[in-house]
Amino acid sequence: EGSVDSAAAARSPAALPSQVESRWGDTSSYCAKKKLQAWCHLPNGDWVLGKILSTAGAEAVLSLPEGEVLNVKIENLLPANPEILDGVDDLMQLSYLNEPSVLYNLQYRYYQNMIYIKAGPVLIAINPFKKVHLYGNDFIEAYRRKAMDSPHVYAITDTAIREMIRDEVNQSIIISGESGAGKTETAKIAMQYLAALGGGSGIEYEILQTNPILEAFGNAKTSRNDNSSRFGKLIEIHFSSTGKICGAMIQTFLLEKSRVVQCAVGERSYHIFYQLCAGATLPLREKLNLRNADEYKYLKQSTCYSVTGVNDSTMFHTVMEAMDVVHISKEDQENVFAMLSAVLWLGNISFTVIDNENHVEVVADEGAHTVAKLIGCDIQDLKLALSTRKMRVGHDNIVQKLTLSQAIDTRDALAKSLYASLFEWLVEQINKSLAVGKRRTGRSISILDIYGFESFDKNSFEQFCINYANERLQQHFNRHLFKLEQEEYIKDGIDWAKVDFEDNQDCLNLFEKKPLGLLSLLDEESTFPNGTDLTFANKLKQHLYSNSCFRGERGKAFSVQHYAGEVVYDTSGFLEKNRDLLHMDSIQLLASCKCPLPQIFASKMLAQSDTSASNSHRTSGADSQKLSVAMKFKGQLFQLMQRLESTTPHFIRCIKPNNSQLPGIYEQELVLQQLRCCGVLEVVRISRSGYPTRMSHQKFARRYGFLLLESVASQDPLSVSVAILKQFNILPEMYQVGYTKLFFRTGQIGTLEDTRNRT
Ligand code: ATP
Ligand code: MG
Repeated sequence: EGSVDSAAAARSPAALPSQVESRWGDTSSYCAKKKLQAWCHLPNGDWVLGKILSTAGAEAVLSLPEGEVLNVKIENLLPANPEILDGVDDLMQLSYLNEPSVLYNLQYRYYQNMIYIKAGPVLIAINPFKKVHLYGNDFIEAYRRKAMDSPHVYAITDTAIREMIRDEVNQSIIISGESGAGKTETAKIAMQYLAALGGGSGIEYEILQTNPILEAFGNAKTSRNDNSSRFGKLIEIHFSSTGKICGAMIQTFLLEKSRVVQCAVGERSYHIFYQLCAGATLPLREKLNLRNADEYKYLKQSTCYSVTGVNDSTMFHTVMEAMDVVHISKEDQENVFAMLSAVLWLGNISFTVIDNENHVEVVADEGAHTVAKLIGCDIQDLKLALSTRKMRVGHDNIVQKLTLSQAIDTRDALAKSLYASLFEWLVEQINKSLAVGKRRTGRSISILDIYGFESFDKNSFEQFCINYANERLQQHFNRHLFKLEQEEYIKDGIDWAKVDFEDNQDCLNLFEKKPLGLLSLLDEESTFPNGTDLTFANKLKQHLYSNSCFRGERGKAFSVQHYAGEVVYDTSGFLEKNRDLLHMDSIQLLASCKCPLPQIFASKMLAQSDTSASNSHRTSGADSQKLSVAMKFKGQLFQLMQRLESTTPHFIRCIKPNNSQLPGIYEQELVLQQLRCCGVLEVVRISRSGYPTRMSHQKFARRYGFLLLESVASQDPLSVSVAILKQFNILPEMYQVGYTKLFFRTGQIGTLEDTRNRT
């Protein structure tokens, strides 16, 4: 094919990759030059900026700003950018792209309240932990009119809207970051912009009002964030052909329900409990037999009842108003509050030991009576459900008494599942209210606010699931920013020195492989009646030792090499949490209730256990047999990824500058570790060394062909294009000619456009 030949001829053999490489590489040649500024890595991990006074062999003499002079090894130096580049709004513009330069750039901007920075296509948002004057109608208007173009959530949201309208392709805004980094706030800022631009029908107000409801029921004060989301959330906002919002749908992931029955000292349970206790009107208090928060055992254990700067009573009214807006009737609202009160009183139910085998009976005190009244069941039924278990042995039904610890577990399991069902039900009601008639028109924008990678001193089942989700999201991110990019170059036959990126497929395999992957083995062990956390850990060590991402640790622990670092998991509680059993006796109790919500919850649970029972061949007494938590989560994740795959993604990475939730503190090491976790440097590297602007030969020839001074003999688009490039002296390293497209470096098309507009 002639066109391939001329493409090859036009292709520049310029030694670009290495040239680009040397601009940010840790070149010792740079650091051997006198008078240049350089970053020096101090033994304590910090970077300081200094000027090179002289060099000799592997050593250099560096002067620091305060006049101090240091003798340092050249290997500890990295090139610094000229001052003129201080605080550039896209990391792509840095001449030297290394960790200290990036850290410095973010810090420079952060201290000037410029909390948004682009890293190529990714938006970085640094949590200011204070009010910054960057939001509201004036800013929205400025971004809409394109009068402002500095990086902002508004700008990225604006791009999403425009691309949705232009291409009729669904868009997604994927927000990630550690707990407290600002994901939820960022999601709300994006929603604000969407509502302002796509508003008009009134439904945008309903959509915004889902936030206080979901935050009340799904957020809690933790040691890391006073308003920490304890669930993941995807909101899909739909637009009509005229670009107006016409509905939305919310999907939630993996609510942390253990928090309902226990939480660490200094943390709180879900906000709504405290709001209800503080804000309920007198008649409601009496009707639900409400007390102060400190009279409930579930709330008392953490000895923390308030959040600085938050008035729970006011918030309660905000939440009730929001519920009105999303059409939850007053009657339903009261039913919801009754369930909350029931959960709190469940925690106050106590047991007395009745024999020397530690079997128990429920104490028929205020707690038990109130719960029975609130859920609408017979007090005797409640007592039986919490202290006995019906079993089927052969053909006989027998009743087994529960021991104290079994009874406590049963009570807590009931409280947790009541709360989780309530949360699910609320989301359903919201979705009904926001429902769109016809959907999936290629006119939607989804916003994903999901827990980031977690690594603590002690990591349990929750971190296991969260980090698994993050591996999946990371793969999605990699795919889009690296793989697709490179594949397009290769497909179009252009020169392309591959930029390496961390592929996390091995780690995903470790989780997902059947039958010998973490998830399968967990499920298998969860179905064994004699399976324990220890047998589970041993099984992992036995089967997975050869996987490079897996390491067996001492006792019940194992570790996984995640893309963001190694995490040691303690399997204690894994099986229990994965099984998440609610005994059939408890489900039947709920089914027997006279109140509407418990009945709805029970029929849902029964339906779930039916479907999965027919899918699996498990038999284990009279317990409900439902999908394990990990399997359900995996299913949800796959569905999520599928949905995201059909969208054009826009990524926002939130960064937490300090662990104290305070303004004006920038901890380098903490920021660096987050930047590494999300591969910011690699993204910039690939974007900068790549060719972000593309145009087909046809389009290029059509658009600029008329500028040619001499007509081209053969009029095929490729020859025309090459002639244009020659005439305008576009430097060979600034473009590549592919089989079907021309690829340009940043800024090149701008020059051509200027000429075109002047002609
Ligand atoms: P989690 O994973 O725990 O839910 P998160 O990433 O959602 O954490 P947010 O709740 O959004 O974190 O942010 C934590 C706090 O940081 C907010 O309550 C707010 O005080 C502050 N914050 C975040 N973003 C901003 C912002 N753009 N302007 C002002 N304050 C902010
Ligand atoms: Mg959040």
